[in-house]
Amino acid sequence: MENIIILGSGPAGCTAAIYAARAGLKPLMVEGLQPGGQLTQTTDIENFPGFPEPVNGMALVEAMRKQALRVGARCVPGTVARCELEGEVKKLWLDNGAELSCRALVIATGAAARWLGLPSEKALMGRGVSACATCDGAFFQNESVAVVGGGDTAAEDALFLARIASHVTLVHRRDALRASPIMARRVLENPKITVRWNAVVEEVLGDQFVTGVKLRDVATSEMSTLDATGLFVAIGHAPNTAVFKGQLALDGEGYIVAEHCHTSVEGVFAAGDVQDRRYRQAVTAAGSGCMAALEAARWLEAAGYSSLNDANERE
Ligand code: FAD
Ligand code: NAP
Repeated sequence: MENIIILGSGPAGCTAAIYAARAGLKPLMVEGLQPGGQLTQTTDIENFPGFPEPVNGMALVEAMRKQALRVGARCVPGTVARCELEGEVKKLWLDNGAELSCRALVIATGAAARWLGLPSEKALMGRGVSACATCDGAFFQNESVAVVGGGDTAAEDALFLARIASHVTLVHRRDALRASPIMARRVLENPKITVRWNAVVEEVLGDQFVTGVKLRDVATSEMSTLDATGLFVAIGHAPNTAVFKGQLALDGEGYIVAEHCHTSVEGVFAAGDVQDRRYRQAVTAAGSGCMAALEAARWLEAAGYSSLNDANERE
C-alpha cells in the first residue's frame, strides 16, 4: 500500500508530487491519459512566474515532472477507471488492469474540453472538427477556419490559427468577449480574424470533411452559412470527475467541493482545475497542488501514519 497517491500529472499533480516527495512520503503519481495535462495542448505560456520570456507549455510541465522525479516521486501510466474512497484504505483500479491502494489520495485530474453536443460535430470529429488548435492547426495552411467561443482559449486558438490559416472567424454567442483584455485586444486588432458576434453553430457542414458551419444569429434567428474547412471548438472545459461521482461531494457542474483542499471524504484531497471553477490557471493549479500535499502530509501525521515509515503502518 502507498502512503499517498496523486491522480494526474498536470501542474497540480506535479507540484503535489514535489511537496509530498520532499515531505518523505514517496508519492506515486498516476499520469492519466494526458501526461502533463492541459499545458501540453498549448504553445507559449506568458504568465507563469519566473519566465521573463514565453515558455513552451509542454517544456514547462515536463520540467515540473522531472523535478518531482528528482526529489523522489514515482510515476505510473494509467487512468483511474474505478475507485472506493470511503474507509481507511483508498482503493483504485486503473484502466490498464493495475490495482492500487493508499492512505491519502490527492485528486488532480483537471479538466477536459467541452463540446457543442451536435451530431454533425461528432460525425466530423478529426475530419475538420477539433478542440486543440495547437495540435491540429497545421493541417489548415492557407485555409479558412472557424473558432467557437469567447474566452481565453478561443482567443488564443484564433491568434494561433491566424498565423497558419488564410482567415479565422471567431464565432461567439454574445456581443463581448470573456477573454482577458490583453487577449481580446490582440484578437480584435488582428486583420486575419473576424468576429461573428451573437452567433451560435447550429450544424457542422460536410460529408467526409468539414466544408462550413451553419450559424444562427441569436438576436434575429437569421440563419447563414460560413465556409470553413476547420472548426475549432473552444468553449471551455469540464472537470474530470465522472469516476468520483457518488463518492465525493461535487457541485452542480461536477467540480469537486473542497475546502483548503480537503474533500468531503476523510483522507481525500483535491487540487487544481478539478476543484477550481474560478481561476483555472497553471500557477493556481500548481499552488493548490502544494496546498493539497501539505494538507495530506499533516493529515497522515495526525492520523498516526509516519511520513517516513516505509511499511505504512500506524505507529
Ligand atoms: P490538468 O492540466 O488538466 O491535468 C490533469 C491531469 O489529470 C492530466 O495528466 C490527466 O491525464 C490526468 N487525469 C485525468 N483523469 C484522470 C483519471 N481518471 N485518472 C488519472 N489521471 C487522470 N493557464 C495559464 O496559466 N496560462 C496559460 O497560458 C494557459 N494556456 C492554456 C491553453 C490551453 C489550450 C488550455 C486548454 C489551458 C490553458 N491554461 C493556461 C490553463 C492551464 O493549462 C490549467 O489551468 C492547468 O493545466 C490545470 O492544471 P491541473 O493540473 O489542475 O489539470
Ligand atoms: P471559459 O473562460 O469558460 O470560456 C468559455 C467560452 O465559451 C465563453 O466565452 C462562453 O461563452 C463560451 N461557451 C460556453 N459554452 C458554449 C456553448 N455551448 N456554445 C457557444 N459558446 C459557449 O473557458 P476557456 O476559454 O477555456 O478558459 C478556461 C480558463 O483557462 C480561464 O480561466 C482562462 O483564463 C484560462 N486560460 C488562460 C489563457 C491565457 O492566459 N493565455 C489561455 C487559455 C485559457 P460566454 O462568454 O457567453 O459564457
